[in-house]
Amino acid sequence: MNANKNKYQFGDLLARHHLKKTEPRLRVLSMLASKNFATSQPDLEDVMLDIDRGTLYRILNAFEEKGIIHKVFDLNGTANYALCKSSCEENHHHDEHLHFNCVVCNNVYCLDDLDLPALNLPAGFQPMNLSLSATGICPKCGKKSDITEN
Ligand SMILES: [Zn+2]
Ligand SMILES: [Zn+2]
Ligand SMILES: [Zn+2]
Repeated sequence: MNANKNKYQFGDLLARHHLKKTEPRLRVLSMLASKNFATSQPDLEDVMLDIDRGTLYRILNAFEEKGIIHKVFDLNGTANYALCKSSCEENHHHDEHLHFNCVVCNNVYCLDDLDLPALNLPAGFQPMNLSLSATGICPKCGKKSDITEN
């Protein structure tokens, strides 16, 4: 994707959530969008050395509150962040997709395009939030182990 076009879209996204368009915010969004797995704050810090930790923390918090990104924990218990689908709203996330934790690279993937089975909970249980996760080996790491075996 063209970087300028990307920036334009993210500018719109910020405007829609009444957030001022700032360079660090745009950079965080394009960084998160550039990967197909979630990103931790330390990973963001590594590539945004000029943005201080407190600023980054506030950006992530604001994005999460606004329904722009969601938090998911990797197998080490580190918080990782991924972009939300447009159905998320302020203080109301609908990220009810499967999170796949790879035991090799420790990346967490958001698998959005799965048809999840409907839950038939016992009477009286009213779910407000559903989180699904799986542990295993991602395609990238699966390929690597094939190579070493051959
Ligand atoms: Zn969300
Ligand atoms: Zn992996
Ligand atoms: Zn997710």
